[in-house]
Amino acid sequence: MNNETCIHGGVSPITLLSNLHHSQAGSGRHRCPTCAYEQGFNIGSTGNWKSYDEYCASLVDPEVCQNGAIAPTYILSI
Ligand SMILES: [Zn+2]
Repeated sequence: MNNETCIHGGVSPITLLSNLHHSQAGSGRHRCPTCAYEQGFNIGSTGNWKSYDEYCASLVDPEVCQNGAIAPTYILSI
């Protein structure tokens, strides 16, 4: 798998980045997608949730984009 390392040291698969939606809406506008992927991967790797839906239901600060995707506001604001 080919990965990309961003200027912050985050790592994510190039295929994932090329398939990201082009929306720049929400509080995470212009944030680094590579760092976002890495943080999401690390959270998912903890095994604390059975699915992404279960994780989203546990969020106290969810932000929903125009496509219906959910992310925690505390990560978007970093
Ligand atoms: Zn980054």
